[in-house]
Amino acid sequence: MINRRSFVGLAIGFSLVSGINTTSVQAEAILMAAHRTDESFMRQALEEARRGDFPFGAVIVCDGKVMASGHNVGIRKNDPTAHGEITAIRNFISKYPSNNLKQATIYTTGEPCPMCMGAIIWSGFKRVVYAASIKELSSRIGQIMITSHTIADAAPESKIEITGGILASEALELFK
Ligand SMILES: [Zn+2]
Repeated sequence: MINRRSFVGLAIGFSLVSGINTTSVQAEAILMAAHRTDESFMRQALEEARRGDFPFGAVIVCDGKVMASGHNVGIRKNDPTAHGEITAIRNFISKYPSNNLKQATIYTTGEPCPMCMGAIIWSGFKRVVYAASIKELSSRIGQIMITSHTIADAAPESKIEITGGILASEALELFK
């Protein structure tokens, strides 16, 4: 198990390391190693992304089964908040109790933006798995440069597990 804070410090560079080190550790979210089935679920999220107005997709998995999926419909729905993760959450709660999200993992082709990571934490997800990081995505499309890890750190109640980098190059390819 890797300390997520030190990972974030390494990932975003020296300029923020001192700030991170002087912040007291409150959240217990941790960077977790990949699970055996992560690639297969991420491939389903990539299929969703191919259908998006912007190439972002997500699937929600409970007990090894995909329960809901979504892709970016920001243009079609005239809704700038209709990111893949938000769409997947809305599709899930249209069918199942929101409480079931507490046992769920969300697979998303892009690291959740601050809005989506906030929604993921408010929903109580157990785990989030992403493909391309915000930093990687920022070379393809505009991003708010705050990592999902930073948002999780700011939510002391959340114990969400975060795994990144699953099929990242395939997610980035979708922007060509
Ligand atoms: Zn988002």
